[in-house]
Amino acid sequence: MTKRMPASNHRPLFLHHAEQLLTLAGPPVPRRCADLDDLGIVRDGAVLVAEGKIVAVGATRELRGEAQRRKARAIDCRGQVVMPGFVDSHTHLVFAGSRVDDYEQRLRGRSYEEIAAAGGGIGLSARLLRDASARALTVQASAFLDQMAAHGTTTVEVKTGYGLDVANEIKTLEVIRGLRRVSALDLVPTLLAAHAVPPEYRGGANGGVGAYVDLVCERLIPEVSRRQLAEFVDCFCETIAFRLEDCRRVLTTGLRHGLALRIHAEQLGRTGAARLAIELNAASADHLDHLTMQDLRALARSNVVATLVPGANFHLGLMSYARGRQLIDAGAAVALATDFNPGTSPTLNMQFVLALACDAMRFTPAEAISAATINAAYSLRRHHWCGSLEPGKQADLAVMAVDDYRKIPYYFGVNHCVLTVKRGRVIRGSDE
Ligand SMILES: [Zn+2]
Repeated sequence: MTKRMPASNHRPLFLHHAEQLLTLAGPPVPRRCADLDDLGIVRDGAVLVAEGKIVAVGATRELRGEAQRRKARAIDCRGQVVMPGFVDSHTHLVFAGSRVDDYEQRLRGRSYEEIAAAGGGIGLSARLLRDASARALTVQASAFLDQMAAHGTTTVEVKTGYGLDVANEIKTLEVIRGLRRVSALDLVPTLLAAHAVPPEYRGGANGGVGAYVDLVCERLIPEVSRRQLAEFVDCFCETIAFRLEDCRRVLTTGLRHGLALRIHAEQLGRTGAARLAIELNAASADHLDHLTMQDLRALARSNVVATLVPGANFHLGLMSYARGRQLIDAGAAVALATDFNPGTSPTLNMQFVLALACDAMRFTPAEAISAATINAAYSLRRHHWCGSLEPGKQADLAVMAVDDYRKIPYYFGVNHCVLTVKRGRVIRGSDE
């Protein structure tokens, strides 16, 4: 049974006798090539936590004395894996309702265009979000965050992108700000106003796409920056959404206003968005289903984290996935995320994403875990705080009820997480 723990959580914690403690410790750079395969495992491992931070990491026998001196509450992790909490670096957490009707229609053979024409698709999500109150959005998102915590996620990037006008994009960011105050998890806000062309600008109406991009660049980004409502700006670069030049304008405007960059790149077709990410030194380029070999090599040589979201390919029933294996072999800093969203990837379970990375993209289990923790932290520029278990970092941990980390993706489709610790507090699971 899971339960929320009371205030006694502020006492020091001593997680000990872990069968495998995955430290992910290493030099302060994103993991590439063979380093992705090195989880820094300590057998019979322990972590000592105080005041929200990791004090020491090592073998149980080495840390026991210090834990007793600090009167730490001991949690026995015998037969279990202790690892950094997952960093889910790409989500569309705040939405209203669901798209379960679209899902069934698609399974019955309707095309995306037919579903959109019948009132479904992203247009439906935009209508529902505009009609929803901030409170209703908060209630739904909070329930999802609880589920994420129960599955071992401790840091979550959250994008806007269903408001698609100034008031509703700001409303979404205010919901995220409210969630940051009440949620135990760390939320990283991203402005994705350039997610879809709003219905009122389609077909050239009201000045068309250009007028909407003007609105985003001249009103929305300056206001979001002034009020510090987002850390990142993102855009959806596709022929059905925004052209490369529109995206360049949105991203460079964001840069001028102090926002860091991420980009939805090469998902449905090859647009050049990955090259734009490199040119503008984006923190992350995401999806990457349609990279050329030259794009792939250029990304591998760059500092842009290549974030793969195989949950979207799975849910859409695609037979093809991004070339994760080749990206790793070429030297790219690869990350994994859920892309949690109502249309194409309604999963919030990073453990399932690990299984997809292994089974569909030929990651090793260790590579998948590095991509879902330390490299994802780099993509959010949070690597000083999370993504590995090292002294001085935030105490964000997940305890998995398996004695070998490879069993997390191997026994796929179930939740192995029995305990989640965020900033030194047990937020999910029993600590008996
Ligand atoms: Zn997305």
